[in-house]
Amino acid sequence: MLRPPSFVSNALTRLIDAGYEALIVGGALRDTVLNRPIPDWDIATSAPCERIKDLFSDRKTYHLRHETVTIVLPGNRLEITPYRDPHGTLIEDLARRDFTINAMAYDSLRKNLIDPWEGRKDLAQRVIRATRDPDLRFREDPVRLLRGIRFATELGFEIHPQTRHAMEAHAHLLSRVARERIREELIKLLMCPHPSRGFRTLSDSGMLKQIIPELCEGKGVEQNIHHQYTVFDHALETVERVPPVLHLRLAALLHDIAKPRVRTPEGDTWRFLDHASESAHLTVQIMARLRFSRLLTEKVAHLIGIHMVEYTSQWTDGAIRRLIRKAGRENINDLLALRKADLLAHGTGSERTGSLEELQKRVTSALQNKQAPSIHELAINGHDVMELLHLEPGPHIGNVLQHLLEIVTDKPRLNNREDLLALLKKSPLP
Ligand code: ATP
Ligand code: MG
Repeated sequence: MLRPPSFVSNALTRLIDAGYEALIVGGALRDTVLNRPIPDWDIATSAPCERIKDLFSDRKTYHLRHETVTIVLPGNRLEITPYRDPHGTLIEDLARRDFTINAMAYDSLRKNLIDPWEGRKDLAQRVIRATRDPDLRFREDPVRLLRGIRFATELGFEIHPQTRHAMEAHAHLLSRVARERIREELIKLLMCPHPSRGFRTLSDSGMLKQIIPELCEGKGVEQNIHHQYTVFDHALETVERVPPVLHLRLAALLHDIAKPRVRTPEGDTWRFLDHASESAHLTVQIMARLRFSRLLTEKVAHLIGIHMVEYTSQWTDGAIRRLIRKAGRENINDLLALRKADLLAHGTGSERTGSLEELQKRVTSALQNKQAPSIHELAINGHDVMELLHLEPGPHIGNVLQHLLEIVTDKPRLNNREDLLALLKKSPLP
């Protein structure tokens, strides 16, 4: 049934020749049965960690969490983990695993699947079921609550009712899980083909309020005529519509996160004052809490802060260049992808994505013609300004350059030394 690639069978042989048991476990077995590509391989072995390191000392290895030795190859990863109890048996090791579909092992010598809790049956029936007693499994390690939902979302499986009940009963235990582990599971969930399904389960089972309570504030919060969905549903609809790139998925999830906090009545409808920048602020807090890197957080918050692009065909070329400059060339296409998903997720059928396509074309052509200069690409620099206007260094030099940049943004042909110096002489200062 399973034909492991040579780097995996070689690793198995090495361990077995050294006198240990070694079997394939984990995602590779699931993926084989489901006919999916296998990026990661896991081996469970009776060899202790130190012996694994010795046996693979010629390979580029490193210690990951706990006792796992990881071997990285281009495009693949192999994780070798000793049995949790060094004196225990394979069956005891499998018994400690979280879900039946993860508690199988493949013996490559006997070509035999060891499957004490009928994981293969659950795979066929597309069910996520905790091994043995679900309450105990979640109490032992509450991160399994998130793993269960993530597997169900990734594979499109249902969660077995008993497992589901146990999840609801133990949702509060997530407060004990290290935020880094929560973050890693959230990332995997966000990268699933249909993350909204997972977020709904998180919400319905009481887990979401443990990890991103701010998202729950949008539940049932009605908007205005432009929106068919509540704030919460709109966020999930938007996530579904951006490509599976982490910063885009995060930006989509959180782009309106502050809306419930800034909603104010206006006549018989609602308005959302400054919701983009407020959402960017709140996003920084949420991502810091979940221990996301500062770089990623800044990128996501930046996109959110400027996501309200209200394009019309009347925009001048200068306005296009200003938008590119505000977003940054490296972010402009992400911004358009986010805004397109946002508009499509209004659900009213009247989304103006046609005009966004026009905007995309104009942005692409401006980028191709290198028409969105930054201050560093002006044909003159701060020294020129100081010299010509007899000014001392200071922030006012930057203001002068900014002023020139605004002019050049509308009239790119003026971005040459002669014209800029002439401009300075004529009207020296903003
Ligand atoms: P993926 O690689 O997509 O996360 P996986 O099932 O291979 O899926 P790993 O994290 O690589 O997951 O772990 C390999 C195996 O180790 C799992 O299949 C499972 O049997 C076991 N395992 C991992 N984490 C836990 C946990 N928190 N509790 C119980 N068993 C776990
Ligand atoms: Mg794995």
